[in-house]
Amino acid sequence: MPTTKVFLIGAGPGDKGLITVKGLEILSRADVILYDHLIGHELLDHAKDDAEKISVGKFAANHTLPQESINDLIIEKAREGKVVARLKGGDCYLFGRGGEEAEACYGAGIAFEVVPGITSALAAPCYGGIPPTHRDCTSNIAIVTGHRKKGDTRPIDIPKAGTVIFLMSVGNIENIIQSLLGAGYAADTKIAAVEHGTCYDQRVIKGTLENFLDVIKDHPLRTPAIFIVGKVVELQEKLDWFSRKPRILLLGNYPERYAHLGTIVHRQIIQCVETNDGSQTAQSLQNAKKQDWIVFTSGNGIKFFFKKLYALGLDARIFANTKFAVIGKASGERLAEFGIKADLTAETESSAGLLNAFAGIDVSGLSILLPQAEVSSEQLPQGLAARGAKIEKLTVYKTIEKEIDDVDLDYIDQILFTSGSTVKAFVKKFGSVPEHIEALCLGEPTQATAKQHNIDAKIIDK
Ligand code: SAH
Repeated sequence: MPTTKVFLIGAGPGDKGLITVKGLEILSRADVILYDHLIGHELLDHAKDDAEKISVGKFAANHTLPQESINDLIIEKAREGKVVARLKGGDCYLFGRGGEEAEACYGAGIAFEVVPGITSALAAPCYGGIPPTHRDCTSNIAIVTGHRKKGDTRPIDIPKAGTVIFLMSVGNIENIIQSLLGAGYAADTKIAAVEHGTCYDQRVIKGTLENFLDVIKDHPLRTPAIFIVGKVVELQEKLDWFSRKPRILLLGNYPERYAHLGTIVHRQIIQCVETNDGSQTAQSLQNAKKQDWIVFTSGNGIKFFFKKLYALGLDARIFANTKFAVIGKASGERLAEFGIKADLTAETESSAGLLNAFAGIDVSGLSILLPQAEVSSEQLPQGLAARGAKIEKLTVYKTIEKEIDDVDLDYIDQILFTSGSTVKAFVKKFGSVPEHIEALCLGEPTQATAKQHNIDAKIIDK
């Protein structure tokens, strides 16, 4: 049996969560990934560090690479002995020319497998609030491409079905509506467009065959979009679950932690990276066991502190005589992952909260180490020093700004600031928070930074 070298993988319609477990597993071990324009780009974060990622960007008539060249590239990479993932929007075989790619592999004698995906033809109606079949409406559907070569104005063949779903049809909608009317569909038949289905900027536009062209004059259509024609469109108002969720822009890390709050639009605008000033840091770490207390003001501080400690061949066992304080419950959990139970946890997640937590402890003459970010508030070290403690600061990380994919703020309801640096990075990139967007934040220090930038942010419980 030859080992499979080429995997055609359906990436799903846009929401990155809609790829299959099998597809994701193969993606994460592929050597080469050839991907389409319409896939959720965050999926590429699952690739191996050294995977080669090649955009073959197919959308509408605008093919970055002609199909034959895509086929050739798949075969060339497979012949180099690489595991090739061909990541395709939606499902591989539905209007995706996946069949042709599989045939090309077959013709070249290269083993292939196909992992089906969730097609936009079904997912966009679902997220748009329209079940393609319903016992009160219809028991059959047809999925049609409305794509025609430029200049071809012949009517589209319309199958007889209770629900007709059109893909690749935005440029041809006038002809489609004429063809539907010509095939006997009544003028008051319902039609809906679902643009950017399953994505945060999804929009549903509804009308009838009679008025739809007027409706879209006021709301110009965006691609990609599908059209759904039939009585099922009437259910949309009741079943429109997706648009009822708030769309929340998150600029920090860990989007999964906030998924219960709404549709998370994740753009990681800042990244925490380790800092190192060589021998001084090493010396500080070697001496850390002599400290009376070590105080952590963030989960990242904990992560990078232990990374450095481990790099020196040391671990938590050196801290038998040292006490630990953390700024909040989450940091306490993080610390426990490194084998240490916090002795003190601030009740409110802030420097003031930590100073309060220390209120009952005589720190006079005690040595306290503060592993922290390059830019950190002075409130805690000054407060503890004022009570007689000997403070040593140890910079273990810094935040850097990253380029992010565009985000259309018109489709955002809330922004969640998870740290002061996300506030600053947002202001730098976007200026101010538009009026229709509610600003949220995680704790008092972040709220204070927001305030400095004239942003009124409400503190929320995670
Ligand atoms: N194989 C893909 C379809 C490829 S054809 C699938 O199974 O989904 C490309 C067409 O798919 C687009 O013109 C558009 O009609 C539709 N499409 C793809 N992604 C979409 C999305 N997120 N929302 C609405 N339509 C989408």
